[in-house]
Amino acid sequence: MIGILCNEDEKEIVQEFFELFKTPWEFSAPDVKYDVVVSTLPEIDEIDAGLIVLYSSQPTEFDKRMGIELHQTLPSHLVDLNGTSLPIYGKIAVLHRAGSNHQGTDSGTGATVVEIHDPLKVIRVGYDLFREVDFLLSESQPVENAQIPALDIHISLLRNWIVKAGISFVEIPPVPFEYKFFACLTHDIDFVGIRRHKFDHTMWGFIYRGLFGSLIAFLGGKISLAKLVTNWMTVLKLPLVFTGVVGDFWANFDRYAAIEDGLSSTFFLIPFKNRTGEKISNKYLYKRAAHYDIGDVEDQVRQLVNLGFEIGSHGIDAWHSAEKGSEEMKRIHEVSDRRVAGIRMHWLCYDRQSPSVLELAGFEYDATLGYNETIGFRNGTLQVFKPVGACRLLEIPLNIQDTALFSPHRLNLSDMDASQLCNKLIESACQHGGVLTLLWHCRSLEAERLWGDFYQWLLGELRNRGAWIGNAHQIVEWFRRRRSIAFTEFISADNNFEVGLIGDEPVSDPRVLLRFHLPSRSTKSSTTEYDDYIIDLPWNGEASLEISTHERESA
Ligand SMILES: [Zn+2]
Repeated sequence: MIGILCNEDEKEIVQEFFELFKTPWEFSAPDVKYDVVVSTLPEIDEIDAGLIVLYSSQPTEFDKRMGIELHQTLPSHLVDLNGTSLPIYGKIAVLHRAGSNHQGTDSGTGATVVEIHDPLKVIRVGYDLFREVDFLLSESQPVENAQIPALDIHISLLRNWIVKAGISFVEIPPVPFEYKFFACLTHDIDFVGIRRHKFDHTMWGFIYRGLFGSLIAFLGGKISLAKLVTNWMTVLKLPLVFTGVVGDFWANFDRYAAIEDGLSSTFFLIPFKNRTGEKISNKYLYKRAAHYDIGDVEDQVRQLVNLGFEIGSHGIDAWHSAEKGSEEMKRIHEVSDRRVAGIRMHWLCYDRQSPSVLELAGFEYDATLGYNETIGFRNGTLQVFKPVGACRLLEIPLNIQDTALFSPHRLNLSDMDASQLCNKLIESACQHGGVLTLLWHCRSLEAERLWGDFYQWLLGELRNRGAWIGNAHQIVEWFRRRRSIAFTEFISADNNFEVGLIGDEPVSDPRVLLRFHLPSRSTKSSTTEYDDYIIDLPWNGEASLEISTHERESA
């Protein structure tokens, strides 16, 4: 069990941190002996614990007692912890203690992390963990750090320090049993049919990109000759589309049902056409008004619902007005004839009030928080989390958006470069668990984009790398069930471990799992460190589960 010593104003964020690092913990009570004590206080009494982890960018009383010198305080920057880059957004103390192991060297003389074993095991960390977590869950990481899952690295560092200290513990990782991570498939429907765009900026844009944009992309080695020809032919066919001789190629968003082949994804549809929305200042604001709304595609929507797809709201004003948000939700509900759980804002509009506003409008989850200009982890995590300001609303972050990868004014990548960048994110998902959320727009399968092949490659890759793939509501509900679970006890005695649990009824697919960390002495000679040994068990709702380390020895 971890005991937490922190300031009063950190308590709320501590609670959220331990929904993400789901392991037994409590705010430290006097006279209780904890396996691990995590403190952010400037002064702590003598503590008897297997491991003490002290986070602070300021000098502490403990530093004086232990002979730790604070050389200087640095502003926000990227630190290197044993080869892992971690951006720290608040202050960083450069620490030094003679004879101790240092990590994250910031200057010739000091480091961000100092490990002490004499015989008390202490990790002194020179930044403020919960301020970092608060920043990450309420602000956006700058684009240059987009591909670093900073919050998940903080969790992984703390977990590894506990393991290395030889302390056994249990957690419920953000990982579905028998899989490695989740992948969430979503589609924003911004356009339905090019016929609605006769002689407007969308049509001229399509012609320009189809003829010249494609040629530039082909000459730059970004697309194949076949794609160039397809785009040119489609542009030439446009008069036939407008006169009704051939079908409208932008009206086929239900093609995703065939590509996803039995999987379920989420379609976010526009509730009201011709609305730019309020409270946005942008000289291209007129472009935000969609030329269709869900009422125009009722048959297609009902068909998707019958096939098991989720329908959500592609919101216009919901991000700033609960009244408008519930009006938008009502509209989507009326047409789809299904309860509407989720929303993603059109143009990803969002501000600090949005979580409470969306919650008041009745939404259960939001899927807006991602980047338009790149792919990655805007809030530094792959996990579904409760945004600051919400009580019940959960956020499923957006990670890989098609237009961010391929649009000429975004990353403008070739398929090869895009696959490498996506693989980097998949690597993080394999390492940390959580969910990778994809956004493939309705238009992206057709000319002039033709990003369907890449989408199919990505789905295959996610499957091969161990993803459980589904829609946003399914995955948010899995995380909500995980959050409902509480540890009633964790007892370790004579190599036997018993964990008590209460929580919402588990469902069969995919199950949550209990991960027992049972560190054993490192086999590497001359170290006092421990290696992790992991046993995963599915949780089927049992009030308690027991294991013994004999299972380790016999394994
Ligand atoms: Zn949109």
